[in-house]
Amino acid sequence: MKKIWMPILLGLFSILILLVGIYFYIHDNNSDNQQMILPYYEKEAFQPPKNIVQKLPVISSEKIKVPILLYHYVEYVQDAKDTIRKSLDITPNTFEKQIQTLLDNSYTPIFIDELADILDGKMKMPTKPIILTFDDGYADFYTDVFPLLAKYKIKATIYVVPGFLDKLNYMTKKQVQEVAGSGLVEIASHTIHHINLKYTKAQLAQKEIFESKSQLEQLIGKSVNNFAYPYGGFNEDTIKLVEKDGYKTAASVVTGSYQSVSNRYFLYRLRPGVRTGKYLINWLDSLKQ
Ligand SMILES: [Zn+2]
Repeated sequence: MKKIWMPILLGLFSILILLVGIYFYIHDNNSDNQQMILPYYEKEAFQPPKNIVQKLPVISSEKIKVPILLYHYVEYVQDAKDTIRKSLDITPNTFEKQIQTLLDNSYTPIFIDELADILDGKMKMPTKPIILTFDDGYADFYTDVFPLLAKYKIKATIYVVPGFLDKLNYMTKKQVQEVAGSGLVEIASHTIHHINLKYTKAQLAQKEIFESKSQLEQLIGKSVNNFAYPYGGFNEDTIKLVEKDGYKTAASVVTGSYQSVSNRYFLYRLRPGVRTGKYLINWLDSLKQ
């Protein structure tokens, strides 16, 4: 009797292991799923701000396809329980494959600042422009991303939080100066303390927007022309403040790949997730707005 049950039990056990494996595989490959990053972002942050758009004057209806990829961490996350970090992460290996895919398919990585020049008619559109952006200025930008940018000689824009520099997990001021001087990295602003401007009173919002710009400019000795909203949070007043302070653009997390002068203060961005090779290219090709 015992001999009959053993293989059956073993079989059932193997099936269980397989199912658990499948569950974790799907779970891990779903990192671009907005659902997973909702503790970090509000759901509305991904939608076009209809109430704001209705009030804005239509300057131009001309739209250009310039996908702006949004990255946070690029590293091998050490703490498996840190689910938010994991949901905002891709591995350096995947990131390198994404770079190779883009270059193999004739994409031209440009700075956000160059997109501003294209929108203003000051620069010609290169072939298949694409922008790599990194939010928050984490330490892994210096240790994992920057060496790959240098290896492939490609440009990226980082949105830095000056109040966090030199703190654990973030880049040091010296590292920011070094990457800024490389010619491969545009330093852009992301407030002084990473606050959600959608819910911030005007006076404090103004301070965070204005002073982060001047602090970073002082640090790198170059002008800082572009901004990104922490948590993708902004409102009509925020847009006015960003414009008043002389920023050329501001990036949101609204999903989309077409940019125009009308959305220069809420540029659309995309999370590439773990797509590489033909999956990445087919996805980019399929984006129609
Ligand atoms: Zn951020």
